[in-house]
Formats: sequence, structure tokens, C-alpha cells
Amino acid sequence: MAKYTGADCRICRREGQKLFLKGDRCTSVKCAIEKRPKPPGQHGMGRKKVNEYGLQLREKQKTKRAYGLLEKQFRAYYDEAARRKGVTGEVMLSLLETRLDNVVYRMGIGSSRAAARQIVNHGHITVNDKSVNIPSYQVKVGDIVAIKENKKESVFIKELKGAKIVMPKWLDFDTETFVGKILQVPEREDIDLTINERLIVELYSK
Ligand code: SF4
Repeated sequence: MAKYTGADCRICRREGQKLFLKGDRCTSVKCAIEKRPKPPGQHGMGRKKVNEYGLQLREKQKTKRAYGLLEKQFRAYYDEAARRKGVTGEVMLSLLETRLDNVVYRMGIGSSRAAARQIVNHGHITVNDKSVNIPSYQVKVGDIVAIKENKKESVFIKELKGAKIVMPKWLDFDTETFVGKILQVPEREDIDLTINERLIVELYSK
């Protein structure tokens, strides 16, 4: 799969907020947003007025990058949300949240969405007792997401044992058994990223 190969911290600095792309580093003093809270590039401090289109574009770029997606993939989530019942922006965020790689990240199995994606890609995860190695797999309410039995001895999994993980209310994950469950559809208030999804809908619906 094609992916963005630039510097992750540069993305946060461009969007002016923490997108938590680098795991533990994001909560440490090494975070680039803490050290250099200005846009990257020679003219980083010089940028001033942004028009409506610019605002919509930045919001879309920020969200797309937070979930580690490319334009075509991200647009597909908007198109799918527009086809479904409900508020398009909220449905789109709900679809993004219920990607398997994001669920693994929210459960605390990966320190970032990129790390969680790798864990899924490497076949460490099961959904309803079946191995799933597709990061974009959409989980549903009632699905059981677990770490594969023969991977539970991996060093990074052992480190999780007994950890206290703050989880959104739509998810459950037991750090003793490494089994989790999707309790409900994530609602807008459950998604902690600072995103104005209305701007993204305005951009794509032009
Ligand atoms: Fe963003 Fe994390 Fe880099 Fe901070 S450390 S700038 S939150 S990717």
C-alpha cells in the first residue's frame, strides 16, 4: 500500500496541533510541537490569512494524516458516509474510528496508529476468532478483537499485561486476556481529535 514517507512531526507542525503519530515521543518533551510550535519551512512564521477553502483543506489534510490515509482512501470514507443515513461528517469519523488499525490503537496495543497498522499487517490480530491482517477492516458492534494466541508471548504484548489503558466508552479491552469487544458505534463525543468535520464535508460536497 502506498504511504506518506515524510517526517511525521512535520505534519503536526503544519497542522498546528498534536496528531500523535509517533507513540511515546508524542507525550514527551521531545515532541516537536512542544519544541517548535510553528509551521515547517523557511516562511513558517510568515503565513497569515487563510481563506475559507484553505481552512477546509487544512481540516481535511489534518484528519487524513491523523488516520494515516492517502487522498483516495480518505475520500472513499466521505463517499461512503454521504451514502449512509445520519450526519455525514459524524458518520465519516465513525467509519474511520472503526477501522481495525484504529481499534487496535485505541485498545493500546499499538503506541500510534502506524504501529497498530503494522501489528495488524503482521497478522497478530483476530476478529471473532479469525485472523484478519487488513488494517482497513471495518469492525462492527459485538465483534471480538483479540491478540492471536501464539503472539501473546511477544515482548511488546507482554509489556501490556495488566496495563491500565484509558479506553473510549465504545470499546472494551482486557489487558490480562488480551481480548476486547466493540460495545457500541463510536459517537462524535467519543473521538478525541480536534477536528471540524463540517469543513471537510463542505470541501468535498462542492
Ligand atoms: Fe506530532 Fe508526535 Fe511528533 Fe509531537 S512527537 S509533533 S505529537 S508526531
